Amino acid sequence: MTPRRIIIHHTAGNSLPNPNPYHFVVDFDGRVHTGIPVTQTTGATRNNNEGSIMIAALGNWVTENMSTTQQNGLVNAIANTLNRFPSIVRQNRFNLPASQMHHLGQLSRQELPVAQRRHQNSGIKGHEDGLGEATLCPGARLYNLCRDTLVIRAINLANSRPNLQ
Ligand SMILES: [Zn+2]
Repeated sequence: MTPRRIIIHHTAGNSLPNPNPYHFVVDFDGRVHTGIPVTQTTGATRNNNEGSIMIAALGNWVTENMSTTQQNGLVNAIANTLNRFPSIVRQNRFNLPASQMHHLGQLSRQELPVAQRRHQNSGIKGHEDGLGEATLCPGARLYNLCRDTLVIRAINLANSRPNLQ
């Protein structure tokens, strides 16, 4: 599998899932737990598994606020994945949540597949951003954190270091 994107999830529960259905889970102490090997495709989404590295934050982030420690752990996990896989486009795709995808309806028949492919196939996004996904994952609070700060911090951190090849 050549990774094209990182998809961020929450586990929606407070204990580590076993078996771990993601590639990585970041716990409340910011520690990273490895699940499915990155050489394998997960079943963590309905339509967007191929080419995706799945990183989940332990917890349910629909209404709760995440600690700085766990935020830092998530930033590190994203940056490490970017440095490990230069094939992942370093773009924040959290600015286009599924709920706002109606703008795609204004594109022409020729433009639409291109826009959808671009949306689907690259960058760092939330589970709910994936085409055909009907989910609240990774939770509104975490979604907004990623959109506004965490993904940009992770990209800047990755850009400040050499890739791990
Ligand atoms: Zn998810």
